[in-house]
Amino acid sequence: MRTRSAALLCGLASLTGALQPGYAEPLLEAQGHMYRWGPAATATNVDRAPQRISYFALDAAFEAPQDSPRLSASNCGRMRAFRDIVRTSQQLTPRAANGELHAALAAWQTAAGIEFIEAPDAAHANIVIGASADATGKAFANLTYDRQFLIDPTEKALGTPGNPLLGPRPVPQSSVAALDNGGVTLVPITQAYVCLNPMTPWKIGFDGNTAIYDLRLTFEHEIGHAIGLDHPGRTGSIMAYRYDETVRDLTPLDIAAAQMLYGPPRTDRLAAQRGIARELPTLSSP
Ligand SMILES: [Zn+2]
Repeated sequence: MRTRSAALLCGLASLTGALQPGYAEPLLEAQGHMYRWGPAATATNVDRAPQRISYFALDAAFEAPQDSPRLSASNCGRMRAFRDIVRTSQQLTPRAANGELHAALAAWQTAAGIEFIEAPDAAHANIVIGASADATGKAFANLTYDRQFLIDPTEKALGTPGNPLLGPRPVPQSSVAALDNGGVTLVPITQAYVCLNPMTPWKIGFDGNTAIYDLRLTFEHEIGHAIGLDHPGRTGSIMAYRYDETVRDLTPLDIAAAQMLYGPPRTDRLAAQRGIARELPTLSSP
């Protein structure tokens, strides 16, 4: 066994221990469903604009709403201001931590058809990011999802959802589409939470000491969960569950997983926009 400090980047691992074979392991899967922001891509909307996902770095204490079903019972339930993440990291400033968060968001935005925008406050944010109020572990992510996908007590008693004896649970076609890999349904995420333990030291950059985690890698990993990705394995990717310092940029596996949910980045659309921009009259300098 590895040391505990280098074992897990987050607490979502246990949710996916009973994956049915054939499901795409890079995607978060729980209760027979996968999770995603916004409606799934279809043949008719594949050229749409990137999926907008808003985020908010907490400026004060926050409690996640208790009235929505959550993937994990306790992860990131109570949080503190984002600046507190580095309160025991003497050499880091909140501003530097914020820079690493934005670098992580930019990495995912470049990799797939998503666009991050800053929300005005936590209540209006898709992803809420801050320091964990409970000083355990290193970093965590959590999701709330559409209540209509709750598994009712009868199904719980009889077995796991997706049991062929029970049949699939009806889902609204407007927000769900089958994936190629086995027709798994996609559940709309309603809010996501990313929290880092402020009582553990953080760093920026790799130095070979895997007891202290790099902030950008950690944000990249947890934001990956917040958009619906899981651990594809132990090492060799940003979404791998073991902290190591072999990769700091998204790998082809990370990118493929994000694109499985959101499609490729809309480079054609952006190129078209740039073409339009070039045609606009240039402003004359004074
Ligand atoms: Zn993780």
